Amino acid sequence: MVEARYFDGRSSRPRTVLLDWQDGLLTLRDTAENTILRQHLLQDMEVAEELGHGPRLLRLPESGLCEIEDRAGLAALLEQAGHRESMVSRGQRNLKLALFAAIALIVIAAAGYRWGVPLAADAVAARLPTGLAEKTGQETLELLDEHWLKPSRLPGARREALRTQFAALQPPPGQAPAWRLHFRASPQVGANAFALPGGDIILTDELVALARDDREIMAVLAHELGHQHYRHGLRNALQGIIVGAAVTAWLGDISTALAGLSSAVLEARYSREFEQEADIYAARMLQHNNLSPEWLATALQRLEQAHASKAEGTPSLLSSHPHTAERIEALKVHR
Ligand SMILES: [Zn+2]
Repeated sequence: MVEARYFDGRSSRPRTVLLDWQDGLLTLRDTAENTILRQHLLQDMEVAEELGHGPRLLRLPESGLCEIEDRAGLAALLEQAGHRESMVSRGQRNLKLALFAAIALIVIAAAGYRWGVPLAADAVAARLPTGLAEKTGQETLELLDEHWLKPSRLPGARREALRTQFAALQPPPGQAPAWRLHFRASPQVGANAFALPGGDIILTDELVALARDDREIMAVLAHELGHQHYRHGLRNALQGIIVGAAVTAWLGDISTALAGLSSAVLEARYSREFEQEADIYAARMLQHNNLSPEWLATALQRLEQAHASKAEGTPSLLSSHPHTAERIEALKVHR
């Protein structure tokens, strides 16, 4: 039994009543006269959400209202009838629970960003129509040619020799992605090589000039082939697009977002995991061809030194490969 102040909806003067169950009906009994004033099914009444520290309200059908100070008593009374309080109401009663919910939300959002976005990107990448990767790669190369790259000045015979040398290397068993090697000059970007979605690999004259041994170039190309094998360029670009789409609208219009895929390729920066995957691929490919993975470490070291003064304003794709020092360390394991 719980005491309540009952307003009948006609008079502004409240009456003290006792609330209790009788034959499955919530019964309002006048304490002074010991008469039953009203009886209702629980589902016909509205239990107002618990807000702040004031009395709780029970709205009766048609008109009438009960004000209950004894919150614990009311909760027990409602529980007797199997009434479940809403999550909101129960949560508000418990600041710890509310705080926990807030922290859980942040953790879920962070986990979604860390693992959900890459998973979603991979799911999209696996379902993209064939040819879209190639088309994106071509568009990206056109963008690069327009703004950043110039035709190669290497003699045709030298280019052919490098292409033949790389073609002669066996990829790791069962991991032979398609590739096309393009030569470009870029005083602005400097020594570099990068993989575009769909199989295009770009090698700059500056990198060819920087290497003291062609095997360093082969090692870098093997690393780029690793990016091709794992479709890193496309997956990276899709991650960026998915985050953008999720922010603007709940997974908004992905087809509109995909229109910006080639610029996303340019702005995406490879994660540490992607670089490691490509390095391991390269190390295995080099070993498979009786070459030391050390060639990649040497090339990375040289690139790091060459990029000590990084050009301002170049797209992420064209900046030197990240995490160089730890990658050189990791490659020593493959010796
Ligand atoms: Zn890389």
